[in-house]
Amino acid sequence: MKRLFDTIEKLNVFPGGPDKEAAEEMNRKFAAYMDGILEWNDKINLTAITDRDEFVVRHFIDSVLSAGSPEIKVAKLIADVGTGGGFPGVPLAILFPEKKFVLIDSLAKRLKIIEELCGSIGIGNVTAVHGRAEDLAGKKGEYREKFDCVVSRAVASMAALSELCIPFLRVGGTFIAYKGNDPEKELNEGTAAIEVTGGRFIRTEQAGEPDDSLAHTLIYIRKEKKTPDRYPRKAGDPVRKPIK
Ligand code: SAM
Repeated sequence: MKRLFDTIEKLNVFPGGPDKEAAEEMNRKFAAYMDGILEWNDKINLTAITDRDEFVVRHFIDSVLSAGSPEIKVAKLIADVGTGGGFPGVPLAILFPEKKFVLIDSLAKRLKIIEELCGSIGIGNVTAVHGRAEDLAGKKGEYREKFDCVVSRAVASMAALSELCIPFLRVGGTFIAYKGNDPEKELNEGTAAIEVTGGRFIRTEQAGEPDDSLAHTLIYIRKEKKTPDRYPRKAGDPVRKPIK
């Protein structure tokens, strides 16, 4: 867990801090969350990673890589689309107990475990919402254009993901896509989807060590215009027929 806290310091997530008490509380929550996920993993597949050191690197460190960005720092309401075992949403929620996180996934069983686990550990700032992003962010969706930030890791190509995530953002909000080490191709393919849903590419950030197979590029997209009513299209279409 020391490596995680070194990363948090390196990213300057809490300039001058966090204070000792807050750091201890974070440490407790991270450890309990890992224990809980690994325990449940025997019954239902939550992660392929069962080695604890690898878990810290691949799930915790990877998830918090956006935590030092100004966009995350100012956001009050953040969605994690396709959260799976709670990544990157839960580690970010542990770091920022004053922000609210909505964890979205189409797989109810997994989501229920994440919700119960967070409840039992005292991660009180997360709400689990079951459903497909296409429906929840749709024209009649309760969560359309509500969020300051949307994060998403390992869910779909940039083109599909932009159509799934950008409709959740309020105008002025930011979508942060956790992508692989060479996002250029994806970004090029995703440009049309980013633009028609109201987004504009802002920057990429190289995260992690460059020679590390785990290194990620974070792609930052700002929402500049409201998403037209016709997006996202019906469930399945963003992945099956990505916007070109
Ligand atoms: N984000 C997690 C991570 O990085 O470990 C989980 C990644 S997992 C490969 C992809 C997750 O996205 C699955 O849990 C799946 O159910 C969810 N998902 C895929 N398409 C979705 C959609 N259209 N709406 C909501 N959830 C979706």
